[in-house]
Amino acid sequence: MKFRTRAIHVGNAPDPQTGAVVPPIHPATTFVQPGAGEWGTFDYSRSGNPTRAAVESTLASLEGGCGSLAFASGMAATHCATMLLNSGEHIVAGMDIYGGTYRLLHKICNRAGIEVTLVNLQNPQELTAAIRPNTKMVWLESIGNPRITVPDLPEIISIAKAHQLLVGVDNTFATPVLLRPLELGVDIVMHSATKYLGGHSDCLAGVLATADPELHKRLYFIQNATGAVLSPFDAFLLGRGLKTLDLRVRAQCATAQRLAEFLEGPPAVEYVLYPGLPSHPDHARATALFQGLHGAMITFALRGAADDAKRMVKSTKLFHLAVSLGAAESLIEHPATMSHASYDPAARQAAGITDNLIRLSVGLEDGDDLVADLEQALA
Ligand SMILES: *Cc1c(COP(=O)(O)O)cnc(C)c1O
Repeated sequence: MKFRTRAIHVGNAPDPQTGAVVPPIHPATTFVQPGAGEWGTFDYSRSGNPTRAAVESTLASLEGGCGSLAFASGMAATHCATMLLNSGEHIVAGMDIYGGTYRLLHKICNRAGIEVTLVNLQNPQELTAAIRPNTKMVWLESIGNPRITVPDLPEIISIAKAHQLLVGVDNTFATPVLLRPLELGVDIVMHSATKYLGGHSDCLAGVLATADPELHKRLYFIQNATGAVLSPFDAFLLGRGLKTLDLRVRAQCATAQRLAEFLEGPPAVEYVLYPGLPSHPDHARATALFQGLHGAMITFALRGAADDAKRMVKSTKLFHLAVSLGAAESLIEHPATMSHASYDPAARQAAGITDNLIRLSVGLEDGDDLVADLEQALA
């Protein structure tokens, strides 16, 4: 079956008891066992729950994995992946990562004795140079944040594999509609399902997917031992969101392309970072990797005083001033003080997160209305 069909049918078989076309939500935390020491499919909801299992099967199918694990948040999912490492081991991560991932690596993983080096993955030689005998994992975003970079994933995978490193890809911005990293040889795909996968700003969730049953087992062991699982109610919302993922993302990409082209016009805009623009340094690579789509996240820089960016993000009427992304409603934010505030100032500087940057998450509103909103805010 094709992607859009799987999003609707995998994990959504009609309920055998009632014929309901939407499977029921199972809030039960515990399940009757056939006998002492005998186990059914489910026993206790931290270890497994039918509603969570259903959405995990949909997600595994969409990412082309052998299985997936659903977490209470994206950060819980990333944390689980980092717990594959032992104290004294080393992670190399891209410099253009989510602020919360930066904080997890530098303030939590470090305390567990895991060493972290951030490199500019736009230059894969920096990855080669950062690899040490104790390096175990490379962590990157398939579309970097907030400068909307598109790293050369096949090249990075080949360097990592030559050194027997695990590769983890945060695929939140790209979604499996644009890219399925497991098909390229990535070991672990992570999502903040809070964003496009849920798609409606009403469900906090995270996902890990892998194509290797052994690795899946190790991750499942950590998830069950540490406990940050997705609740049955949120699992239901996530599964409901997935049914329209492909439609939503394609519509959002089309509107984003239009908005990015519009933003290249006004003199108040210094530059626009959107991979669908020929002016983007990774345009050709993104077009090839993402099968002609370019995502729905746009970052642009304003000319003028640093304050102007803060004024602009308060001046839109349809774009809500808020962190997060990927939902029906369009959002605007100021990375330096919002999504990337948890970076050290020096690291923020190194990652090019200047005070005049503004990030847009393009939603599902009519493009005419969104262009008009940006026009009046710029004015
Ligand atoms: C939001 C986000 C996360 C963190 O996910 P939560 O669901 O907020 O815990 C990780 N990576 C990226 C790229 C994100 O946008």
